[in-house]
Amino acid sequence: MKNYKLSNGLLMPEIGLGTWCIPNESASEVVKNAIEIGYRHIDTAQCYENEVGVGDGIIASGVNRNEIFLTTKVRAELKDYKSAKESIDISLKKLKTDYVDLLLIHCPQPWAEFMGDKKYYAENIEVWRALEEAYLSGKAKSIGVSNFFKEDLENIFSNSKIKPMVNQFVGQPKHTFFDLIDFCHKNGIVVQSYSPIGHGDLLNDKELIKLANKYKVSVARLCIKYTLQLNTVSLPKSVNPVRLKENLDMDFTISEEDMNYLKSLNK
Ligand code: NDP
Repeated sequence: MKNYKLSNGLLMPEIGLGTWCIPNESASEVVKNAIEIGYRHIDTAQCYENEVGVGDGIIASGVNRNEIFLTTKVRAELKDYKSAKESIDISLKKLKTDYVDLLLIHCPQPWAEFMGDKKYYAENIEVWRALEEAYLSGKAKSIGVSNFFKEDLENIFSNSKIKPMVNQFVGQPKHTFFDLIDFCHKNGIVVQSYSPIGHGDLLNDKELIKLANKYKVSVARLCIKYTLQLNTVSLPKSVNPVRLKENLDMDFTISEEDMNYLKSLNK
């Protein structure tokens, strides 16, 4: 599998297992299966409440910790230095590891205020300071943000020492922030596309079914491939071993013409 190189040289596999909505009780089994199938990149978050199961699954897989790229995210609601710092130690304990490969601020605003008028610029600088410290002390091998728009990123650029290495935000056919992807790439930030299959909602989309049939692939594979061909990392979620395997099979190419068609469907 192709790797992306982050600005600090760290390598990140281009497909990662999403774990949102996987309950803690089943996360261990899903993660273990995924690693056996070939996944080497796992995406979790404090608010998914499954870090214990994810950590157990990595251990149960028997694969060396240093062969797995593990991400977690600081809760969107933690907007001060002290609680962000404390939460990072709690995450490491739950995940039963000394470090994560990537640590993200989950959202620039608490979820209840996402995309609202209050921007939390000063608060995000405080939280970012906790992430910078985690990075410098080795608790995180890389740090970044999630759901940050241009102005949220510029706030970090102007007021911090270390630039985010990653921005994770929604990326799927019909819902792609092309300008934000460009802005991140121009600033040396690797983009991760979340919900590449639209949380499952895109599976019955007539236009996507038609194009998937042309390539003799499933809609899920078409969607994942689309995000990869945008030069972004893809984070599909599945709990099912057959679908987990299918989602790693990217041995086809969407033509330039069809990529342009998919881009034209953006809403
Ligand atoms: P996805 O877009 O990955 O879609 C997942 C859904 O598609 C599930 O219902 C899954 O069902 C189904 N599915 C997966 N593969 C196939 C397949 N090959 N054929 C048919 N159905 C399939 O959803 P998510 O919204 O979970 O996004 C993926 C990940 O992105 C999250 O798990 C999380 O890690 C991350 N994320 C991050 C956010 C953020 O704010 N930073 C926000 C949202 C997501 P089944 O499991 O039964 O296979």
